[in-house]
Amino acid sequence: MLITGAELADGRVRDVRVREGTIAAVDEGLDPVAGERAVDARGRHLLPGAIDVHVHFREPGGSHKETWGTGSRSAAAGGVTTVVDQPNTSPPTVDGAAFDAKESMAAAASYVDYGINGGVTADWDPETLFGRPLFALGEVFLADSTGDMGIDVDLFETALAEAAERDVPVTVHAEDATLFDDAALAGDLGGIGTAATADAWSAYRTAEAEAAAVERAIAAGAESAARVHIAHTSTPEGIDAVADSDATCEVTPHHLFLSRENTQRLGTFGRMNPPLRSEERRSGVFERLRDGDVDIVATDHAPHTVAEKRQPLTDAPSGVPGVETMYPLLLESVRTGELSIERVRDVVATNPASVFGLDRKGRIEEGADADLVLVDLTNPREIEAGALHSRCGWTPFEGWQGVFPELTVVRGEVTYERDPVTGAESFGEPAGKNVRSS
Ligand SMILES: [Zn+2]
Repeated sequence: MLITGAELADGRVRDVRVREGTIAAVDEGLDPVAGERAVDARGRHLLPGAIDVHVHFREPGGSHKETWGTGSRSAAAGGVTTVVDQPNTSPPTVDGAAFDAKESMAAAASYVDYGINGGVTADWDPETLFGRPLFALGEVFLADSTGDMGIDVDLFETALAEAAERDVPVTVHAEDATLFDDAALAGDLGGIGTAATADAWSAYRTAEAEAAAVERAIAAGAESAARVHIAHTSTPEGIDAVADSDATCEVTPHHLFLSRENTQRLGTFGRMNPPLRSEERRSGVFERLRDGDVDIVATDHAPHTVAEKRQPLTDAPSGVPGVETMYPLLLESVRTGELSIERVRDVVATNPASVFGLDRKGRIEEGADADLVLVDLTNPREIEAGALHSRCGWTPFEGWQGVFPELTVVRGEVTYERDPVTGAESFGEPAGKNVRSS
């Protein structure tokens, strides 16, 4: 494949040749050779495919919400070429057998490359788990199958030590449940979708609970020499604590773009962990993304069905979908001048590759994997749940504008394509590979 005349994130206009899954040349004046597909990319941007280090594709055990097939199609259509799945599936990914079961599902069905995180529960099995091509220990505070928080401190420290010994990063869900405000959930919360219902979750899971847990995770990581990555940091306080440490952090699109002001519209569909914060905190998080203190944007794509979400607050499960709308929303912020395109490239591709040691991913350079996304920054479109590919069938960003890919390439193969004129879409083959296997 030869992609000609594309603007890269750094402003250079280049031709990019792809051969055998790899970027073979980034140059000017390249001519197509016989049998090679040529893509005229003039006027468009060519970016590295996004690496979403935080998704929940729900298999095994939750295929009515999402599958490796539907989740990875949603990823490809949103310009995400690598995903990392978290361990709170059913059964949870806490031993070699559970890892192998998930791995075989992903290998058969995923349209994008993937990594698999292992979990830590009272009955996890480090010996068999670390014997597999493990991506990281994931969501350490949230790793059991019920979604309850709070493996105890001893187990957390054991997990950090085990991970440090094998140089496996640890992704920490940092919220301290002892600092939640139980009173916020007492009394009459009103019906589904009322303002009282919607906002109570944010009042309950306090910002202080996150800040305290981030501090503790950073300290424990330093103590054990483990590489700690804080998942879905939702407060300026949490991000600032990470910025002053050796740890890294990610933020989600929903914490960047939505606040408690949106909860009236979202109702229980806006329940997630950590919760939406005040508008002041949201804008503080966005500023830190813009100015460089945020390492990674990752989605915490956590699909649930509409019926599951349309329940009273204490019954509706936590989580929102997002893998397909992350790159489009960030690119829309580029289009409107709020973010630079290089910053967006860094937080979705360059930085996740370097933080998690994916040497072949996240950059458009000779010799790298040809994971590519072609976008037209002059052509945003409205986000509609009906046009997205997740099985869950809804999005918290209904009606927002997004810049979606025209072409998504995974290791040189066209995985997703959309005709910008007719809107016709096509997918390639489910040929995703585990990024930790050689
Ligand atoms: Zn998660």
